[in-house]
Amino acid sequence: MDTIDQLLENNRSFADGLAERHLDVEPQRRLAIVTCMDSRLDVFAALGLGDGEAHILRNAGGVITDDVIRSLAISQRRLGTCQVMLIHHDDCGMQKITDDGFRMELQETTGLAPSFAIESFGDVEVDVRQSILRVRSSPFLPHRDNVRGFVYDVDTHRLREVEVAEETPA
Ligand SMILES: [Zn+2]
Repeated sequence: MDTIDQLLENNRSFADGLAERHLDVEPQRRLAIVTCMDSRLDVFAALGLGDGEAHILRNAGGVITDDVIRSLAISQRRLGTCQVMLIHHDDCGMQKITDDGFRMELQETTGLAPSFAIESFGDVEVDVRQSILRVRSSPFLPHRDNVRGFVYDVDTHRLREVEVAEETPA
């Protein structure tokens, strides 16, 4: 049986064990979380979150791309969220590539230069700060005051907060 067939079987047992219910489409905690696709980070378990409580946006690196801004704009403007939590993590796959190297690899193996930015990073904390600043500077998001960034340690399961220096007036 292939993996997806196994998961379909898991879903049948999952659904059989639960009562039918309907949760509101608006997340109860009014929170959106942007994080990496990393398979070791169980966002719900690590944060004690339940279904219906928060939006979870994931991509390689937890990068604030245009598509993440698109989702956050919908999350805030239509679905009632007003806080953003960013979670990067140690030992990320995005630290194992470089923008130029991966771009060249895609171009050399396919003949096509990708239209998207690769967004690799070396220092995870620097990238969290960059991500916070991208959210805070997006004109499409009405709620930009409550944005906090963290690094998740995939071995100890602990979060550490990354502070951004307050802007000093020019
Ligand atoms: Zn990652």
